Amino acid sequence: MLGLGLGLVLVLVLGLVLVLGLVLGLVLGLGLDAAPRFPAVALPTQNATPAPATSAITKNPVRIPQYCPAAHSRPYSKRMAKPSRAHPANVPGPWFVDDTCIDCDACRDTAPGVFTSYDRDSQSIVAHQPVTRDDLLAAHRAMLLCPTASIGVRAPRPDLAALPEPFPQLIAPGVHRCGYNSPDSFGATTYFVTRPGGNLMIDGPRWVPSLARRIADLGGLAHILLTHRDDIGDAARYADHFGARVWIHDADRSAARFATDLWRGDAAIDFAPDLCVIPVPGHTRGSVVFRFRDDTLFTGDSLHWSRGMGALSAFEGACWYSWSAQAASLRALADLAPRFAWVLPGHGGHTHGDPAVLHQSLLTLVAGMESGVDHSAAPW
Ligand code: SF4
Repeated sequence: MLGLGLGLVLVLVLGLVLVLGLVLGLVLGLGLDAAPRFPAVALPTQNATPAPATSAITKNPVRIPQYCPAAHSRPYSKRMAKPSRAHPANVPGPWFVDDTCIDCDACRDTAPGVFTSYDRDSQSIVAHQPVTRDDLLAAHRAMLLCPTASIGVRAPRPDLAALPEPFPQLIAPGVHRCGYNSPDSFGATTYFVTRPGGNLMIDGPRWVPSLARRIADLGGLAHILLTHRDDIGDAARYADHFGARVWIHDADRSAARFATDLWRGDAAIDFAPDLCVIPVPGHTRGSVVFRFRDDTLFTGDSLHWSRGMGALSAFEGACWYSWSAQAASLRALADLAPRFAWVLPGHGGHTHGDPAVLHQSLLTLVAGMESGVDHSAAPW
């Protein structure tokens, strides 16, 4: 009898465990279903181009240092550049860069008359103390966009409050630099575009309320377009604030689960009459370039202007997916966008020039990539 009783108890316990397991599975399943979903994107696929051939994932040496949050663990607003840690190579004067610089290049692209590299591909320093009002404004912008708050100014401190509103900074017709680069994106440059079909943000800056107010003054934000998984910054916060839709390529979606819409495949997509989305797998699998108004390319980390070479370039040392795929993607981009006057990247220099010269520079870059020219040590 005792054995029978114990057997019944054992059966009851096992049954209970089974029922609990089923309930738990059901709850977790419902939980997954309730997670944010990406609605299927039914967009026209005109201008489609054959998908660039992709090779196996290649590993490349990393030239761009990776941002280390542990080195800058305090909230951004609490950080200030420290004169006691100023780089010894700064020229004497009130402006300085301290030793927390991560060499993201953003200040040198924004204020090339003030900042330079200490050594090739090294931390920034102040090469010329700003004297003119234009240089002062450029240095002020650089100080505000620095992702690590590494730029400082000490007494005699100039009257920065007398300068115009630093950001968003109009850099091309309808196109603004957002400033306030995010440490989460290694200081990627981001853009704000005003247009009749709804304003755009290209990649995500740091959340700064004054920037949000200025964007609101300029008509708010309809869409946030992400070039790839690395340059997301605080896009979620801006999207939430403005009720904007957020777009990213399916292959990079895991980095932006809050996105509302996806692009899929490797064919170009006409997002709107003035904007085409061109997938460029290479830097990451889900990288895209935005061709805006036929004269402007927002290129993320897939293509940039090298000030050191005076030519278009790409980051072989920071190619996370496939360098050969990136070459094929840029070859397709050259076919799809034969005329462009602006190249506005996330990292690296921006440029404005003659479309024929820029197109030739792109073709030369691609030919070099295809023939095995080593770009891993190309200068910024
Ligand atoms: S913006 Fe800041 S982190 Fe980037 S290169 Fe300049 S000083 Fe260094």
